[in-house]
Amino acid sequence: MNLFSVSSPEHNDDEHPENAKRVPAIHRVLDFDAIVAAAIRHISPDSYAAATDEQLAAVHDRDYIRGLREVMARAPAYIDHAPTYITPQSFECAALAAGAALAAVESTLHASRSTPHASFALVRPPGHHAPPSHAMGFCLFNNVALAARRAQQLGLAKVMIVDFDVHHGNGTQDAFYSDPSVLFVSTHQSGIYPGAGDAQEIGEGKGLGFTINVPMHAGVGDKGFQRVADEIIAPAADRFQPDILLVSAGYDAHWHDPLASLQLSCGGYHRLGAVLGEIARKHCAGRLVFVLEGGYDLTALANGVANTIRGACGLPIHDPLGPSTRPEPDLTSLLGRLKSLHSL
Ligand SMILES: [Zn+2]
Repeated sequence: MNLFSVSSPEHNDDEHPENAKRVPAIHRVLDFDAIVAAAIRHISPDSYAAATDEQLAAVHDRDYIRGLREVMARAPAYIDHAPTYITPQSFECAALAAGAALAAVESTLHASRSTPHASFALVRPPGHHAPPSHAMGFCLFNNVALAARRAQQLGLAKVMIVDFDVHHGNGTQDAFYSDPSVLFVSTHQSGIYPGAGDAQEIGEGKGLGFTINVPMHAGVGDKGFQRVADEIIAPAADRFQPDILLVSAGYDAHWHDPLASLQLSCGGYHRLGAVLGEIARKHCAGRLVFVLEGGYDLTALANGVANTIRGACGLPIHDPLGPSTRPEPDLTSLLGRLKSLHSL
């Protein structure tokens, strides 16, 4: 697994859950976990650069890019009600985070037997709430959407994005809502921020059927996610046959996370990593890129990332936090509705 890392220490607010402690906390676990460390190839930050305005414009409106650069003069400030903060260096940090996601996609094309096809872009600020036209929900540039467009520029025509952050990936959905070349699947807790992602939101125009939303009640955990992976995500991939699989990897669906109430454990993230790795090997010649989104309990975040990597690389689970002890609501009626909506 190639590891790209942009910790953005200058984009920080100690009082905010999305702060500069997050990526270093992940590194501490990855570096001290000998099994994971042996599976990781650290990519030097010298080998990639901040995304250019031209590259950002593959998803974002030029007015927004220009406006965000201009608003840096007013930093530190809040620029939306989530709240999304900026510091004077936030534009550069966000452009570098996006640049790392682009480089992670590029690396999957240069893979060979001795170098891996899978990558993890451990980047922040996160991206999946940012639509083409504005900043939103701690996100400035939509890293995974930019990665999808980069893949297509490189000839990988069909891109599948799976977003397992606890919040709906509204920005990513907006970017591809009428686009049949990108299959977007989002699992999220229903009724929380940002309020989008109803099962009935399935795309429009030529993109009708290429957005799959899986809104889950509070309390759904490992068993429910396993069913979603087996009954929705894998069959959707079999039908779509993507050329590359991108993942908005958020860790706020962990039972220990303070921002939401799904009940995934590190074992659940391990299983997701394994299923997604399997899909990438089956359809995409192994081309798989994880891009970090949320996750605000540092222990759950770091061990969630480690177990996603373990799952994707065929390594065993290591879960210091254990599973949730709460019972899970049954997903049968939601899954039935989704299967009928999407003919799966
Ligand atoms: Zn989130």
